Amino acid sequence: MSGVLNWLLDLLPGGRSADREVVIPDDLWHEVCRDQPELAGLGDEAFGRLRRLAGRFLAGRPFYGGGDFRLDDARQLRIATLAVLPVLELGLDWLDGIRSVVVYADAFHVDHEEVDEDGVVHHVRDLRAGEAWEHGTLVLSWADIAAGLDPEHATSVVVHEVAHFIDGVNGMENGFPPLPRGYDRAHWTRDFQAAFDRLNDEIDAGVEPSIDPYAATNPAEFFAVLSEYFFRLPGELQHFDAGLYRHLAAFYRQDPMARQAP
Ligand code: ZN
Repeated sequence: MSGVLNWLLDLLPGGRSADREVVIPDDLWHEVCRDQPELAGLGDEAFGRLRRLAGRFLAGRPFYGGGDFRLDDARQLRIATLAVLPVLELGLDWLDGIRSVVVYADAFHVDHEEVDEDGVVHHVRDLRAGEAWEHGTLVLSWADIAAGLDPEHATSVVVHEVAHFIDGVNGMENGFPPLPRGYDRAHWTRDFQAAFDRLNDEIDAGVEPSIDPYAATNPAEFFAVLSEYFFRLPGELQHFDAGLYRHLAAFYRQDPMARQAP
């Protein structure tokens, strides 16, 4: 694993490390933003704030290429920009739990244990495109990030993993992130539970669901997958459940539907 610290040479002076910011060159910024579907339709002011947030994200965390994967500046910037998009209106504090970023060339294997219905522990090896480690490492597959440059591709692995971190800010990844003060928590829970149950019922009945069936895995994956749709294919989320689109718009304080070209 090789450390990549070339950005740090360009750090703006700052008091606390949290205030530091990497200076992103104009040509690199435009190269990265031009073809990233999640960023289409963002206004100039929002782009400016996104750029500064990405610079602060890069300044505060080491990035590492897993194996012999070469993680150049453009790749780091693309990951940082996608990572801060969900917190554009919330603030970078929400990503304090992400302490480092590890990127592999392709999907990677993760060993873990699963307990079956009889209480027997099984050692399982899964292939993953991304993973949010509890101790603060965001692990990603570059092949899956690159696949996300295709606008027809539904998934956004960086947004997915960041959504898990955001969900876990209140201590547990359970599809119930810390909601704004005064938000009707019962309304959120009722609507998310009903849609989660409906998706599982459709799958059980053999009906092909209109969103990625991985969302039916558990409420945490439901929130993460819906967050991908929210930023990437908001029309499809609205079609799946308009009420959940409104909840996520209120939570993230963004309205990606309004950014879509008419
Ligand atoms: Zn997930």
